[in-house]
Amino acid sequence: MRSKVTTIVIVGSGFAGTILARALNARGQRVVLIERHTHPRFAIGESSTPLASICLERIAIEYDLPDLFALATYDRWNRELPGVGHGLKRGFSFYQHRPNHAFANSHRNEARLLVSASPDNEIADSHWLRSDVDQHLVRQATSEGVEFIDNCEVERAERRGNGWVLQMNRSGRPLQLDADFVVDATGGVPFLPADAKSEFNEFTIRPADSPGGKGVAPPDTGLIFGHFQGVKSFSDVADEASFLNPPYPEERAAVHHLLEEGWMYVLSFDNDLVSAGFVIDRTHSDSHHFLNAPPDEAWQALLSRYPTIERQFAASEPTRKLTSVPRIQRRRVSGAGSGWALLPHTFSFVSPMFSTGIAWSLIGVERLAGALSNDGNRRLWQLNEYDQMLQIEADHITSLVTPAYQFRQDFDAFVAWTQVYFAAASYHEVWQRLSDPPSEDGWRSVGFLGACDPILQRAKMEAADQLKTAYMDRDIKKTTRGLDFENLVGQLITDRNLAGLANPARNRMYPVDLPLLLRHGDMLGLSDEELRVRLPRIRGLS
Ligand SMILES: Cc1cc2nc3c(=O)[nH]c(=O)nc-3n(C[C@H](O)[C@H](O)[C@H](O)COP(=O)(O)OP(=O)(O)OC[C@H]3O[C@@H](n4cnc5c(N)ncnc54)[C@H](O)[C@@H]3O)c2cc1C
Repeated sequence: MRSKVTTIVIVGSGFAGTILARALNARGQRVVLIERHTHPRFAIGESSTPLASICLERIAIEYDLPDLFALATYDRWNRELPGVGHGLKRGFSFYQHRPNHAFANSHRNEARLLVSASPDNEIADSHWLRSDVDQHLVRQATSEGVEFIDNCEVERAERRGNGWVLQMNRSGRPLQLDADFVVDATGGVPFLPADAKSEFNEFTIRPADSPGGKGVAPPDTGLIFGHFQGVKSFSDVADEASFLNPPYPEERAAVHHLLEEGWMYVLSFDNDLVSAGFVIDRTHSDSHHFLNAPPDEAWQALLSRYPTIERQFAASEPTRKLTSVPRIQRRRVSGAGSGWALLPHTFSFVSPMFSTGIAWSLIGVERLAGALSNDGNRRLWQLNEYDQMLQIEADHITSLVTPAYQFRQDFDAFVAWTQVYFAAASYHEVWQRLSDPPSEDGWRSVGFLGACDPILQRAKMEAADQLKTAYMDRDIKKTTRGLDFENLVGQLITDRNLAGLANPARNRMYPVDLPLLLRHGDMLGLSDEELRVRLPRIRGLS
């Protein structure tokens, strides 16, 4: 049933709020999009993934929004939206460092892991220059008829009957707006009343629920970040380390430097701009020193502990003031109710470790656009389902990143754990590309990254438990060898391992292996012939 026209107010014009506004507008809803800043405005959360591209393509087709289709792959983006800034992302690169030592790595890759996300540049992912992307999307939205109010901060939402009155501040002047439905797309800044935001800022996931066993707490981190120019290539400055046989240009990737104090991300855009940030583990003894110091001082102090990264950034200049955030984790108690919903990034954030945010946000947009295109009980039922999926998926994301933090100082265990994440990501990406949707709701009822996939869940829990035991044994008995960790995970993920992961013979270099994929139709429930015919879909929908 198509819903009657209601006023849906979306608070926050990041890419997720704006794409939702455009989808609902395309369905004939009256949408008002509110933004406290004006575009272009700075934002982070830049590194996209294949599951995000798949979802962008689906939304583009369902709501006839062709520019979203262009944003889904690197080459399409270059051809069709050349003025919107981005950077090539071919995969995930990880390097382990020791404080006060230059980065060291031999041909055995004891400190280096590269996992491809795409077979070539044409269908690769991108780092999104958010100021450009979000501005582009808002311009499209307004040209399509979405009402957009910028420089306007929503301060409070009050219930009136079945609807809402929003109290806002536009450039210092009070403003009111009536709404039938409110979507909080603010990325976590609270304005909905208590029932929708209780325990805001409290990370409510119980530690005992996280894999890795009882007492393994989810990440608790702060952040120091900025954008820079003049950053050198890491492999150029690490001149004594081996960078043999990369399956893709290794810094055209989401680069992760694992450190004693936490880790650092480095994302390169095509125009010499680099986004970088130190994610600081708040349980590290020096964390408060770094997070309480002025950000530029903390930045230099951290660089000075890692000589190779320091050389990489030696001639760099920040393009804006560096920023420090004392804590980035948060989670709300519920994600939707009668007359309101939160987008995923408003509901919860745990870690940028595996670049889950953009894809999860887009899946939330896809589901919410579907739910709000209905009314009455069907809408309510779908909002309830949306809420339940958010809960399950936030737990799942937490359980994927938690062991990565726990093992980050033992690269063998860390590498082995990442293979669980990459199995989840690659299996669910290939499944969604090559199979038919499992229900009339399309892929909307399928959990993000295998959150509702019992085979993957079991493999994840067992891998976390067994790796933890092996990791502790190694510490105590010094018997476990590095490759044992990978073999152990390899056995556990067999039924979801389409990508030849956790294979010590790969020497921690994982290209996209299509011939291997062709041998695994059974894992997807496809015959060899079906798989061969469908394989071109791996390059995107049409
Ligand atoms: C450190 C860090 C690194 C990350 N890295 C990655 C990554 O590499 N890859 C990835 O996939 N994800 C990443 N993420 C997650 C990613 O940032 C989010 O998934 C994404 O930004 C969500 O987009 P959004 O549109 O929902 O919200 P946002 O991008 O947060 O946009 C919210 C908008 O709401 C506006 N707003 C806020 N409050 C109000 C108000 N009261 N009234 C009006 N307007 C308001 C803001 O100005 C803003 O424009 C990262 C997140 C963090 C914190």
